Amino acid sequence: MISYISTRGNSPAVSSAQAILKGLADDGGLYVPDAWPTLDLTLADLKSLSYQEIAVKVFTAFLPDFAEEDLHEAIRKAYGSQWQNEQIVPLADFGHLHYLELFHGPTMAFKDVALQALPQLVKLAAKKEGLDKEIAILTATSGDTGTAAMAGFADVPKTKIAVLYPKKGISDIQRQQMQSEPGKNTYVYGLEGNFDQAQRAVKELLSDADFHDFLEKEQIQLSSANSINIGRLIPQIVYYFAGYGQLIAKGDIAPGEAIDIVVPTGNFGNMLAAYYASQVGLPVHHFTVASNENNVLTDFFNQGVYDRRRDFKVTNAPAMDILVSSNLERLLYFATNRNSDVVRQLMTDLQEKGQYHLPAESRTALQDFSAGWTSQETVLQTIQETYGKDHYLIDPHTAVAKALYSEGSRHTLLASTASPYKFAQTVLTALGKEAVAGQAGLVALSEATKTTIPVQMANLYERPIRHRQVITTDQIKATIQAAFKH
Ligand SMILES: *Cc1c(COP(=O)(O)O)cnc(C)c1O
Repeated sequence: MISYISTRGNSPAVSSAQAILKGLADDGGLYVPDAWPTLDLTLADLKSLSYQEIAVKVFTAFLPDFAEEDLHEAIRKAYGSQWQNEQIVPLADFGHLHYLELFHGPTMAFKDVALQALPQLVKLAAKKEGLDKEIAILTATSGDTGTAAMAGFADVPKTKIAVLYPKKGISDIQRQQMQSEPGKNTYVYGLEGNFDQAQRAVKELLSDADFHDFLEKEQIQLSSANSINIGRLIPQIVYYFAGYGQLIAKGDIAPGEAIDIVVPTGNFGNMLAAYYASQVGLPVHHFTVASNENNVLTDFFNQGVYDRRRDFKVTNAPAMDILVSSNLERLLYFATNRNSDVVRQLMTDLQEKGQYHLPAESRTALQDFSAGWTSQETVLQTIQETYGKDHYLIDPHTAVAKALYSEGSRHTLLASTASPYKFAQTVLTALGKEAVAGQAGLVALSEATKTTIPVQMANLYERPIRHRQVITTDQIKATIQAAFKH
C-alpha cells in the first residue's frame, strides 16, 4: 500500500488520509506518493467508463487507506447535478486540438473539479483518523481557488474556511463571488499584496509554532485547500484519463496512442496532475507549460534556473500571476530521482537567494517538457482569432495556452481552465466591445456572441456583499485567529 512522504525528507511517512488532513508536511515539504500505484484499468476500458467510474479507479489507487464504498459515495456527491455537463469535462474538438473543458462546475473554473471532492475527502479522513476536532481550512487564492473552495466547504458541519485574496488582480466576477459568499462558516479577506505574498504568508502560518499552540488550545485541525494538498491533486489526475477516453470513443486515437498536453500554468498543480497521470499509465508524448508574463517557469524549463527575483505583473490572466509555483517542488522530487537532499537544498536556495539551479542530470529528466509564455496583447488577439476562425469562445487563461499551440501530427489535450464568462471584461475587450462590469458585462458578452449566460452566474449580482475586510500581511495571523476562535 502506498504512503506519502515529504519531498524534503525530514518528516515521517503518513497515510493518504493523514496527508489530506495535514496539507503540508512538518518539514515544509510537500507530500508525494512513495511509489506509483497501479490503476485497475486498461486504456481500452476508458471509452466505456463514465467520469465517476474513472474517478473511482484513480481515487482507490492513490488513496488506498480509504474504504472503497466511502470513495464511491464521495465521488457521487462531488460529481453530481452541480455540474452543467454530464461528462463533467467535455471536449471541444478542432482537428488535432481538443479543448478539455474543465469549467462546468459551480464556480466555473477547473478548481471545482478538485474542490468539489476535497471536502468529502477531508470529512472521510477525519472520520478515519478518529478526529473529533473542528477542521479549519486556510487558503491563499489568486481568485479561483477561493471561490471554488468556499463552494465546496460552505456550511459543511464542523469546518471553517478562511480565504485570502490579493486585492489587485482578480476579476470582477471573482470578487463578487467571494465577497458575496453566503456560507456561514466562510471568512474572506482582501489582502494588500499579491498572490505570492498571500501564499507565502499562509505557508509561514502553517509552520508557525505560536499559531500551532493556538490551534491546539482551540482544538482545531488546520488543513489547506491549495494545490499543495494531495486531496486536490488526485482528483485532477482523473480528467486527463477522462479526456483520453473521450478521444478513443470519438475514434480520434487508438488505445495506447500518445497524446500531447498543453496547460496554462500558475502554481503547477494542473500540469503536475498531467505528469502524475503519465506516470500511472496515460500515454503522453509531450507536455507544454504555458505561462503569462510572469514567465518564471518558461525560464526554468528553458535554462534550468528558477529565479523569482523579478517584478510581479498583474495580467489579464490573473489566476496565473505567480512567481513561486509551489507544486514544481513535486516535479523536482521526481526529476532528481527522488533525492530529498537535493530538493531541500534547492528550496533553501530559493528562500535565501531567490533562485536555484537545477543539476544538469535532472534537466535531462525533464526533456518531455517544454515551456513558453504569452503576452497580454497576444492573449487578447488569441481570444479574438479563435472566436473569428472557430466560433469558439475561450477565456484569457485558456488563450495563454492556445497561443503556444501549433497543430502537429499528434492529438492534443489543451486544458481549458475557466469559462469565458468568468473573465467577461477581458473577453469583451478582445472582441472589440466595451468592457462593462457587473451583470451588464455578462449580458453584453451573451449578446455579442449569441451564447447563453451560464446558469451558475444567473443570480450572482443579486447576492448581498458579506465580506468587505481588507488587511495587510502583518495582520493575517491575528485576523485568522479571531476568525477561527470558538
Ligand atoms: C488556478 C488557475 C490556473 C493555474 O493552475 P495551476 O494548477 O495553479 O497551475 C489556470 N487557469 C485558471 C483559470 C485558474 O483558475
